[in-house]
Amino acid sequence: MNIYPWQLSTWNEIFLNKVKMPHAQIFYGYKTQEINKFVNELSKSLLCSNPDDQNFSCGKCQNCLWGKTNHPDLKIVDSDLENDNNSNLINISSARDTKKFLELTSHQKNGKKIVVIFDAERLTVGASNALLKTIEEPPDNCLIFFTVKDIADLLPTITSRCRLISLSKPSINEAKNFLVKTDNDDLIDYLELFNNSPIELINEKESISQIHNVLDELKKGEKIDLININKSWLDNGLVWIINLLQKWSYEVLLNKISQGHNYFPKEKNIIHQLALNADLGKLLSYQKTLNEIKMYAQKQVNKEINLNSVMIEYKKIFVE
Ligand SMILES: [Zn+2]
Repeated sequence: MNIYPWQLSTWNEIFLNKVKMPHAQIFYGYKTQEINKFVNELSKSLLCSNPDDQNFSCGKCQNCLWGKTNHPDLKIVDSDLENDNNSNLINISSARDTKKFLELTSHQKNGKKIVVIFDAERLTVGASNALLKTIEEPPDNCLIFFTVKDIADLLPTITSRCRLISLSKPSINEAKNFLVKTDNDDLIDYLELFNNSPIELINEKESISQIHNVLDELKKGEKIDLININKSWLDNGLVWIINLLQKWSYEVLLNKISQGHNYFPKEKNIIHQLALNADLGKLLSYQKTLNEIKMYAQKQVNKEINLNSVMIEYKKIFVE
């Protein structure tokens, strides 16, 4: 099975009526990587001459062996690097190529032709408009798949002509099972911190020791020694450390207001202690500061100065 276990019910729904599958479909949801993997397997399966009883591709027939880069009936639409090598956008010339591709007869007799537009938020308005007619009246046996993180990033004229398929995150239990099955049991305690996404967690597991380094300081509250703030905290970028500070200070705030917890269930005693010592007004304005920094953190800013100032402000939240 080349999709994630929590995607299986959506997979089965799609195949309920394989013969009358809508020719234009948009797949959207939480993680681009997860959505793209799903659509890759879907295209492979629809081209395969001998899919199994769950509709997964066989991996052995000529269609499967061609793979996604060489299959004559599959087109992955990308930016037009030849004419526009500075941009990641998919412009009108790529959209026109798509139209031409679909008008050719398929390589296999009566076979399907499939177009996939990954990360379709890259479509320019011109390209989207050029695709409208193709989406509305496609040639026989043609399928067009779009993937996008946020459906609102596509023109309504596109979304209204397609079947929308949401690929959601796993439930907590599905996420935990996945970590166990992939020999990542030791990561289970960090799921909350990684938005309950096991894929995000596995991809970023290298950062966990760094998270501990930072948390060891944050736990000290007003006793934090600013000398211990390490340049290496910026190894993963300013946005990374701001995200972590946001989650941590939000957890303190949440505990102050409602005694709840969200991201750091294992640290709830320390969080509670910090919440008792924290000034509510300063905690709230700290959230605001972090949000502001996050808005410009990806630009050319002095990361060390910004890190120092948010750490000074953090220390001031707590009153002795
Ligand atoms: Zn096959």
